[in-house]
Amino acid sequence: MEPADSIGRIGFRKWYERQLIEGHAWFITCFLCMIAIAAVLEELSFRGPLARLLAYGAVVFASGVVGIYAFLRYQRLMTMAERLGDLATCTQCGTYGRFAMVSAHAARCRKCAHEWRLID
Ligand SMILES: [Zn+2]
Repeated sequence: MEPADSIGRIGFRKWYERQLIEGHAWFITCFLCMIAIAAVLEELSFRGPLARLLAYGAVVFASGVVGIYAFLRYQRLMTMAERLGDLATCTQCGTYGRFAMVSAHAARCRKCAHEWRLID
């Protein structure tokens, strides 16, 4: 339901662009978490105070959780964008991305009024 609502409200091309921007923002988040983990592990030492060791462990754990979530979100957004992007071409006239949502699953071409199933 979510992509149909968004596409119906702002149009496919803007929705697609926003998916790519948000997806890459999540990818950058994942990358920054990997850098944070590497930096903390580089600095990690078992000779210092226990509080510092626990704080470093907490940073590694939090960065790991956020990084995994960010990667899964990136993967989900890009997969959906690619799947709908493949189906966004009108099969009758070949126009790309110019359609209106007529239901939660169906799209209608703005050029030739052909309808097809966009979302399963
Ligand atoms: Zn068409």
